[in-house]
Amino acid sequence: VKIIRADPSGFCPGVKGALNLACQALQEEGRVYTWGPLVHNEKVVATLEQAGAHIINDLTEVTPGALVIRAHGVGPQRLEEAVARGFKIYDGTCPRVKKVQELAQRLAATGEDVVLVGEREHPEVQGILDWAGKPLTVVATPDEVERLPALPGRVALLAQTTQTPENVEAVAAALRRRGVEVTLYDTLCFATTERQAAARKLARQVDVMIVVGSSQSANTRRLVQVCREEGVPTYLVGSAAELKREWLVGKEIVGVTAGASAPEEIIEEVCGRMSEEYRVEEKMAERTGPVTPDAAAAPEPASLPEAEKNDQASSAEAPTKSTESVEDLYAKSFLTLHEGQVVTGKVVRVDSDGVLVDVGYKSEGVIPLAELSNKPFVSPDEVVQVGQEVKVTVLKVDAEGNNLVLSKRRADQEETWQELKRHYEEGSPVEGQVLEVVKGGLIVFVGLRAFMPASQVGLRYEADLSPYVGQTLKAKIIEIEPQRRRVILSHRAVLEEEKAAKREALWAELEEGQVRHGRVTKLTDFGAFVDLGGAEGLIHISELSWSRVRHPSEVVHEGDEVDVKVLRLDRERGRISLGLKQVRPDPWTEIRQNFPVGTIHEGVVTNILNFGAFVKLADGIEGLVHISQLAPRHVGHPSEVVQIGQRVKVKVLDINEDERRISLSIKQVPPELQPVTQPQEEVASPAPGPEGASPAETAGENGDATQA
Ligand code: SF4
Repeated sequence: VKIIRADPSGFCPGVKGALNLACQALQEEGRVYTWGPLVHNEKVVATLEQAGAHIINDLTEVTPGALVIRAHGVGPQRLEEAVARGFKIYDGTCPRVKKVQELAQRLAATGEDVVLVGEREHPEVQGILDWAGKPLTVVATPDEVERLPALPGRVALLAQTTQTPENVEAVAAALRRRGVEVTLYDTLCFATTERQAAARKLARQVDVMIVVGSSQSANTRRLVQVCREEGVPTYLVGSAAELKREWLVGKEIVGVTAGASAPEEIIEEVCGRMSEEYRVEEKMAERTGPVTPDAAAAPEPASLPEAEKNDQASSAEAPTKSTESVEDLYAKSFLTLHEGQVVTGKVVRVDSDGVLVDVGYKSEGVIPLAELSNKPFVSPDEVVQVGQEVKVTVLKVDAEGNNLVLSKRRADQEETWQELKRHYEEGSPVEGQVLEVVKGGLIVFVGLRAFMPASQVGLRYEADLSPYVGQTLKAKIIEIEPQRRRVILSHRAVLEEEKAAKREALWAELEEGQVRHGRVTKLTDFGAFVDLGGAEGLIHISELSWSRVRHPSEVVHEGDEVDVKVLRLDRERGRISLGLKQVRPDPWTEIRQNFPVGTIHEGVVTNILNFGAFVKLADGIEGLVHISQLAPRHVGHPSEVVQIGQRVKVKVLDINEDERRISLSIKQVPPELQPVTQPQEEVASPAPGPEGASPAETAGENGDATQA
């Protein structure tokens, strides 16, 4: 058998706040009065009584002293009367209840017709009616709406905090059916509805539900009701002593929930008794793991009283042991706050007025929207969600421990500041989103607004920084000013570090003879620089092509992706020499096949010197026509016979592969074979014939190449 506990269950923030306030009052005053029982739980009340908190119902009964107002609150006249009689007020009215009181007062003052959904005799309802200052219509169910006499055309609908949303909606629907225009105000307590939803969910999964609490408590009775609505047998117990074994016989899973006025101690006692006596194991639903069951044999339980009929039965118990532990419990949860203190709390409500946070204090604290976040937001639920744990700074708390105002923004800011300081000291980068371009740089959000000078954005200066807006950048903190909380960032420092790391990795891999892929970044007269992904290497102009190149732009352009061969590495000076032509076929390897000695080919004059003219036969193949081979006559200077760019037929006289030299002759070519051409502006790259064809084939096809 398993026991599963609903989460949340037990004390709500309002009850917890009132109890803490009572403990504070006891510490300060030694003896206090509570106006009616602080909670609907006899054990707790008895414990407080022993500690010196006495219940009164009439101010005239006692000599004035400290008076604790319970979470339900009381009307303003009664408060005034208490003060007038000399009582010192400790107001433990739950902030949620206070909100309904204020709403009722405001609506009544503006002449609105107000209908209040709730139990007329309940102290909370009584207090709300007092605050309204004029009679309001109170209904508990939709049926009561049907029985109401004449109704106004329009009403404002408020509800007792512990009502179910379904009942309030049903009452609103009943009013509308009667032709009334309804303005519904959200006054329901989240703590209550949350406990009801958790109980309902759990009831669907278990064989039996045990509700811990008092039948005097409206929200406890409601828990019983919602569990029973799920068709599961449900029993209400005020203490472990009221458990009956027969409720659990044959049941495999037992669910436990507790009313908002049930202290943790009693809930644990009930779970513990079931574990011990019925050999069941318990676990916290979706919150904690299973608790090891006690496998001891279960003794027959003593006859137990009917739980629901024994509302007052346990009040007489109040054993010393319980007294101590309940006080301990209160003491543990007692918290004093001072302005500027940073505390952790749980978000209990998020709405357009602000965010309510339970920090374990007397009352929930509110985070005004302006104090929620440093970063712009449209709706508060973009920043926090109900149930989320948040760190908050106490902005304001009054002497009575009320009006607790909190700031998440400042707590975040402090945390962020400490975090930024750590990054600065460690030299580790931070990450932030660029918010805007300002004069001289960028504003980057790193938990606070930090400045990044334009010179620190990229590796090179960029005049237009607008493309960075919206981007998330990694940056190093290069300056920090604690007094002004100013932070200066550098994205460039991160880029430089990344570049250095890449460079190191690249150098670790590089070997001479490797072929690497890179991108041409820059051309100069002496060659082309290629980024290999971490470092740049140089292709010297002589290594670009097998042909003679006058400028690198004849072969490559900036941005070209190229494969290059690593020719030399100078690790000391960090220089990488690359070759492009080495990854391309070397025309000299097949020189004798393509240009056999004795064959005639067409070429282009590329250069003229005193001793002869150079003729290009193909990419990377240039031969010299010596001055003596230019014409069958005496030639004073080669320019008398040829011009740069002129197409000429030449005969191959000799090939020296080692020195990569070819000797050519024009005079040995029959004059009738010479083309009649004008000099060209650009030096073309004639092939020996159709690509891939042998000279013999070429000669056979067009007669341009002639076997000597
Ligand atoms: S149930 Fe809600 S409204 Fe009532 S005291 Fe608790 S927190 Fe306040």
